[in-house]
Amino acid sequence: MQHRVSETQLSDLVQGLARKTRQEIEEANLAIADFEGVARRYGAKFAWQEMDAGTDGHYIKDLRLITLNSRVSHQERRNFSFCHEFIHDRIVCDDDFYAVLHEFTEDMSDEEMEQVVERLCNIGAAELLIPSSEVEEAIKEQGFSIELIPDLCERFSASSIAVAFKLLSIAKHDCYLFITEKREFEETGNQPILIHVKPDRVWHLWVVYSGSSPSAKYNMGRNYPIALGHLMYRVNENGGYVTRGEDDIPRRNSKKRRWEVKCECMAYKGWVFGFFHERDPISRNQLRLF
Ligand SMILES: [Zn+2]
Repeated sequence: MQHRVSETQLSDLVQGLARKTRQEIEEANLAIADFEGVARRYGAKFAWQEMDAGTDGHYIKDLRLITLNSRVSHQERRNFSFCHEFIHDRIVCDDDFYAVLHEFTEDMSDEEMEQVVERLCNIGAAELLIPSSEVEEAIKEQGFSIELIPDLCERFSASSIAVAFKLLSIAKHDCYLFITEKREFEETGNQPILIHVKPDRVWHLWVVYSGSSPSAKYNMGRNYPIALGHLMYRVNENGGYVTRGEDDIPRRNSKKRRWEVKCECMAYKGWVFGFFHERDPISRNQLRLF
């Protein structure tokens, strides 16, 4: 079936919805970290709940209930997860948006539809936390690079997760993002993928978030380890500076089929970020022509 709308249009719509919501929250003198206050302002409910380590939060549509995992203590991660779940709520409450979404996803499987909604919620969450216009300006000035993450975080006191997703959502090229953290082997349980890996350290990098730019074709998963020896480990060894090179896009099936592309990785605020460019980013000089 031919869709009358594209996913890019849906991302624009969700960003518009997030911008409007950000404005309303500011006007109500609420901070986004006041989860209960923000939920109440929109007639939704908020609660903490103990969940397994791989889950950040939930949204229960029928109850309009947002829950966050009380075991996650990282504030940036809590804020981002809240915004993600909150966007789920904004989407279902916006009849116009919901109608467009329904039309776009009606011939999809439940799984495909969920993936679209998840991507949109990440895009909306990033827009709630940092405006696109500021990030677009920075990309025009400096070109697309991972170094923009600390720059923008400092300039706008924004969350590094939100900035990374924001960069990804306005990237004009095919690009994948991975946000990973160091985890002890024991913490991650008996993951079958590790049986084939000979550990030479007690920790590994674990994918907490991943995402794809609007033109990139695939959804990458989360909650799996990065294979030891990957370039992403090198940022920890070089004191947190940016490491550039070529390496495999970390996927669950990386062992079966490598997919090497140009990448840039950086350690920041306790995370290791990686941008994997399937195509080269548009250069600063090209952007000036727009
Ligand atoms: Zn979600």
